[in-house]
Amino acid sequence: VFENVAAAPADVIFALTADYQADPNTSKVNLGVGAYRTEEGKPWVLPVVHKADKILVDDEYLDHEYLPILGLKKFRDASAKLVLGADSNAIAEGRVGSAQCISGTGAVYTGAHFLSKHYPFKGAACYISKPTWANHRAIFEGVGIPVLEYPYWDPATKGLDLKGMLGAMENAPSGSIFLLHPCAHNPTGVDPTLEQWKQIADVMEAKGHFTFFDTAYQGFASGSLDKDAASIRYFVERGFEMFIAQSFSKNFGLYSERAGNLTVVARTPEIKNTIESQIAKAQRAVISNPPAYGSRVVSLVLNDEKLYGEWTENLATMANRIIAMRQALFDELKKLGTPGTWNHIVDQIGMFSFTGLTTPQVKVLKEKYHVYLTDNGRISMAGLNTKNVEYFAQAVDDVVRN
Ligand code: PMP
Repeated sequence: VFENVAAAPADVIFALTADYQADPNTSKVNLGVGAYRTEEGKPWVLPVVHKADKILVDDEYLDHEYLPILGLKKFRDASAKLVLGADSNAIAEGRVGSAQCISGTGAVYTGAHFLSKHYPFKGAACYISKPTWANHRAIFEGVGIPVLEYPYWDPATKGLDLKGMLGAMENAPSGSIFLLHPCAHNPTGVDPTLEQWKQIADVMEAKGHFTFFDTAYQGFASGSLDKDAASIRYFVERGFEMFIAQSFSKNFGLYSERAGNLTVVARTPEIKNTIESQIAKAQRAVISNPPAYGSRVVSLVLNDEKLYGEWTENLATMANRIIAMRQALFDELKKLGTPGTWNHIVDQIGMFSFTGLTTPQVKVLKEKYHVYLTDNGRISMAGLNTKNVEYFAQAVDDVVRN
């Protein structure tokens, strides 16, 4: 019965990792996947997570019972507090709801699915940044919400196209959905300043657009968990209703455990309850209930002052190594006199850098130098270390000159 089904294309990032793994060359460098790597190029189990692992397995002697449909309450509450702040008025007013989801991807999906069923502006499109994480389009289109783009990256300045972004918001029909990256924008590493967020909020408010934040890198951008949530908290203070998809893949290094949360800021506690009930109904039919392990780790750390302190130190270790690699790459390119400006490498923040390298240049990097990165020129800074940064800079220098 399935002979007429067309094959789907492979996922770009996962295909890139597979190509890298299959490459026997010893100089190969993987700058594709957004996963933290140590100076030795290895995955890192955060020491605080290792500690939590031991507590959970040895001391608490985990059972494997089902979680409730909306997940572990302690985890959901701690996640909402992490992103909105312990002193959040919205939380105090009882109008913040949540659902534990299959990591950040599941949280975006769960929010998008709810909007596809219950958003009152029928036919409203979701506007995503140009460029953005590829799954945004796939998820919203998958639930039947039309997807349009708003300008974000200005190739001329290698910075934010604020004018283009605000213009798109002004021109979009009232009540459109806008998907915003609150910090460490993927793939560009370019974020609005707080002053620019105010301008964005002004237009979002005037046009009655719906705000959907996707935060996958809290703690990676400024080195401060609070600062990385400042845009979201500012929107909440101004009274916006919103969805916030949270991922703990990167900031806890829990990639495979799929720990994520959808935080819902509603107008009233009653509306919050209704939204949660509908999300629970939908979640039951898709995953029944979320997996427990990752949420137990996150909950243990977020709810314990000492472990929380250790977590922030672990986060700083990751953020600082990435910053050091930005500087090292910039210094190498300067030393080589590589044509073009490279300040954006140090100016951009978070896990990624949008290098400005073109698709043909990326192809040469892969074929001649065994360096793997996405066609749009994005590199995961975490893939660089003191042993390969010079090699990578020389490769970039070569492709830029030739
Ligand atoms: N949103 C963005 C912008 C991301 O970059 C990512 C991770 N690549 C995610 C969401 C979700 O990732 P995960 O499902 O692994 O938590």
